[in-house]
Parts: sequence; structure tokens; C-alpha cells
Amino acid sequence: MRKLLIVVPCYNEQEVLPQTIEKLSDVLNDLFKKGKITNDSGLVLVNDGSRDKTWDIIKEHHDKTNYVFGVNLGNNAGHQNALLAGLEYAQDKSDITVTIDADLQDDTSVIEQMIDKYNDGFEVVYGVRNDRKTDSFFKRFTAGVFYKLMSFLGAKTVDNHADFRLMSNTAVKALMQYKERNIFLRGIVTRLGFKSDSVYYARKERTAGETKYPLRKMLSFAWEGITSLSIKPIKLIMFLGLVIMICSIIALAYVLISYFLNETNRGWASLMISIWFLGGVQLFSIGIVGQYVGKTYIETKERPRFYVSEILDYEKV
Ligand code: UDP
Ligand code: MG
Repeated sequence: MRKLLIVVPCYNEQEVLPQTIEKLSDVLNDLFKKGKITNDSGLVLVNDGSRDKTWDIIKEHHDKTNYVFGVNLGNNAGHQNALLAGLEYAQDKSDITVTIDADLQDDTSVIEQMIDKYNDGFEVVYGVRNDRKTDSFFKRFTAGVFYKLMSFLGAKTVDNHADFRLMSNTAVKALMQYKERNIFLRGIVTRLGFKSDSVYYARKERTAGETKYPLRKMLSFAWEGITSLSIKPIKLIMFLGLVIMICSIIALAYVLISYFLNETNRGWASLMISIWFLGGVQLFSIGIVGQYVGKTYIETKERPRFYVSEILDYEKV
């Protein structure tokens, strides 16, 4: 029997959190009854600097139960960092962790299958959505493009897997050695190289509250993911530069040949176009390189990824 901690990042989730806690409590209870987890298993709720009553709800549940733990972050550190904060708390206190979003979109009933897989010797078990009917067409489409683009750019991820996964304590400890600020967990976890498997489920609608990922945040998340896992965009720029150079050499040859053949060249329009085009390509390229330089700058500062202002535990001081 193993001790399980379920890590839930929560940002302004007051509408859904009570239901989430109830549902996950049932899951824990059920697993305990079946003898699959120890009775000191529990929930780790990470409050990611919410501005609503999320932390009060967590406190309330901590007070009236003995299995709800709370980690309060001083500021909104973002989904990935909130997950890390929860995993950091859980790493010395559990044998297995499951991370899951607070909005109940992921099917909690597959947690049992995850644990069975763990018992079969898998250190990492991914929750994979095999049915995204409830997501809007737009979300499915953008997600599809994103996975394709990621794998094209050399960032290996598991398709249709977000952050619903089981990790053994060993895997969590390995993950914790990645100290970068610009972190994209689902890309790093696949690189750790642990024996892994997937369980499948249909994704549900958000039970209550609103998505914290509007288009703007989704795009920025995708960009963070790509740039944190791959430097292929810089290589592509180099390649683009080479292609343009070759094109201009061909154009030069064309101009010289037509000059010798005594054809007239009225070239100011093409000249302007090429200047603008090249100017654009250069700015774009410098921009991309700049993004990486900027990230290097941020990483060198080695700022803490999150600041834990309060922990709700049951251990006696
Ligand atoms: N979340 C967080 N910090 C943030 C944004 C989101 O901890 O800055 C949490 C949020 O509470 C939820 C999870 O991350 O538990 C996923 O967010 P959401 O469900 O809004 O994303 P979606 O499922 O729409 O992609
Ligand atoms: Mg969600």
C-alpha cells in the first residue's frame, strides 16, 4: 500500500473548489477501502495567489478534516509553478502523486487505473483525453496545431495529455532537479526517461467557474513551451537566411544576364520590395533570437519560482 497525495493548483476557483474537494475525497475514500492507498493519503491544494475566497475554502476544509493540506503562494505564479509548489511539498511526504486541475474536467475515476499501472511498475502514468467533444472546435483545433508544431520543433510531448498525471516519488524527485524558471512540465516529464504508460478518458466540461486560459494566455503558454524545450526556431531562422541569400544570388545572376542581353531593367519597385522584405525578415529573426536572449537573462537571475507564504499541515510543531 502506498501513500498518495493529489496535487491541485487553484487560481480563483471558489465556484468549483468545494465540489472538487468532495469528489476527490470520494476517490481517496474509495481507493482506501479497496486497499490501494494508505489512510494518511490526502489532497494538496495549492492556492496560486487567488483574489477570491479560494484560500478560505481550503482553510475551512483543512480545519474540518485531516487529509486536506494547503500551500499558499504569495503571488500568482502561474499554473506550472503552482504545480511545482505542490509537488515540492508532496515529494517528501508521499510515495505517489497525482496532479489534476481544480475544474474537474479530467475524469477522476481513472486515478484508480493510474495506481494500478503504478503497481505494474510504471513510474509515470499520463492521463490522455481521447475524446474532446466538450471542448469547443476552436480549442480542439488550436490544441491540435499546437501539438503538431511542438513535435515539429523538437519538443517531445504526449498528444492530448495536459497536466493530469501520476508520478512516483522517484520521478518527482528527478523533476525537481530541473531548476529552470521557464518550465513546461509536460515536456520535461517525457524527457526524464522513466517507464511510462497512459490511461484514457473523455474530457468533460468545466463544472463551474471560467477557464483561466483565454486565447492570449494559450498563445503565450504555447510559446513558452516551444522556447523552453527547443532552440529549433533559431535554426529555422538560419535556414531562412540561407534561402534568402541563395534567392538574391539567383536574382543577381538574372539582372546581370538581362543586362548583357541588353534588356532594360526598371527596378525601383522590386528594389523597394526586397528592402522591405529583408528588413522584415531581419527584424523578425532578431526578435526570435531576442526572445531566447531574454530568457537567458531571466534564467541567470535565478529568482525563486514561487514564494510559499503559508502551509497548512497536520504535523505538530
Ligand atoms: N491555474 C493556476 N494558476 C493560473 C492559472 C490557472 O493555478 O495562473 C490552475 C486553475 O485553477 C486550474 C488549472 O490551473 O486548476 C487549469 O486552468 P484552467 O482549467 O483554467 O485551464 P483550461 O483547462 O481551460 O486549459
Ligand atoms: Mg480546465
